[in-house]
Amino acid sequence: MLSVRENISLLPYNTFGIDAFARWMAFPRSTEEIKELLDSNKPEWNPKFVLGGGSNVLFTRNYDGLIIHPLIKGIEITQEKNRSVWVRAGCGENWDDFVKWCVEHDLGGLENLSNIPGNVGASPVQNIGAYGVEARDSVDRVELVMLADQKKRTLSARMCRFNYRDSIFKNELKDKCLITHVIFRLTREPVLKTHYPDLEKELDDYPETTIQAIREAIISIRRRKLPDPAETGNAGSFFKNPVVTAQQAHLLKQSHPAMPVYDCGENKAKLSAAWLIEQSHWKGKSKGNVGTHKNQPLVIVNHGGATGTEVVDFARTIQRVVQNHFGILLETEVNIL
Ligand SMILES: Cc1cc2nc3c(=O)[nH]c(=O)nc-3n(C[C@H](O)[C@H](O)[C@H](O)COP(=O)(O)OP(=O)(O)OC[C@H]3O[C@@H](n4cnc5c(N)ncnc54)[C@H](O)[C@@H]3O)c2cc1C
Repeated sequence: MLSVRENISLLPYNTFGIDAFARWMAFPRSTEEIKELLDSNKPEWNPKFVLGGGSNVLFTRNYDGLIIHPLIKGIEITQEKNRSVWVRAGCGENWDDFVKWCVEHDLGGLENLSNIPGNVGASPVQNIGAYGVEARDSVDRVELVMLADQKKRTLSARMCRFNYRDSIFKNELKDKCLITHVIFRLTREPVLKTHYPDLEKELDDYPETTIQAIREAIISIRRRKLPDPAETGNAGSFFKNPVVTAQQAHLLKQSHPAMPVYDCGENKAKLSAAWLIEQSHWKGKSKGNVGTHKNQPLVIVNHGGATGTEVVDFARTIQRVVQNHFGILLETEVNIL
């Protein structure tokens, strides 16, 4: 019988390094154990929250319910056709170990997503993205169990309604399901995506541009640019890059000519949240135990001993300052509990 443990410190389970407690916590290792757990539901196990690697969450208080931390492992090739290869991975696999496995097996598609913390199960949730690639470019299907009735469902990529740092799992299915496996469609004939200036520059040091070289180059850049959560608590980008209408972007550009604007089609443009924060003079600034990172102002860091509430207050200050400067409300990317 799967054990459900009581009063567990969440400190080892969130990269922000917030010292909160879970009233109940369970660590199922298979779909059967998840069903068994949900089957033996108790009133005090509500509400429920599924926690992966804890690299995109911020606990602002103790969690008075059940945290399910699935540990389903396994990576297998399920189908091969022409140059396409379908790979099914358990939600509890560490994301970067999975990317490494794919690259080592000469399967292209995920190499630009190297070195992103967290587990496979969360990759479709916010449609993780980096260096011009998103999870949705390779996700084929998502297998899940509904928390309310234990029904198993498989969603096609289209049903996942992926968008920029968004999906059905952050909307209609938010906190309603547990993703058990993700099936990716990868390729033995990868289209290499190297158009990011710092990636192009880093690749100059490699004799050949391969998926292995891209992975290594991205790991080097990210290690230089981003704080290591093992040393400084953080959850990556705290805010999303704002997406505005092309007209709004044009007006802003007139008053701020240096502002970076990225066309995203459909009359929309993406702005750089990091630039907006920097221009509002909040790069590398701290208040108490919390601050923005000195190289990347989009990352809010815990200098040590910060509470979740302190982080939220700091984030609200940044939102207010940026809104006063630019009239834009930054949306949070991190899941605040
Ligand atoms: C240093 C650093 C750099 C980062 N860089 C990037 C980046 O480049 N691009 C990017 O997109 N993100 C980035 N992130 C954010 C984070 O790594 C990703 O969002 C990652 O996918 C979160 O995975 P996780 O397992 O830690 O999820 P968690 O933080 O545990 O959970 C995140 C959300 O997903 C849900 N969830 C988790 N697992 C499951 C599951 N099995 N079933 C259902 N719901 C689930 C949770 O309920 C929660 O809502 C970064 C974070 C850090 C700390």
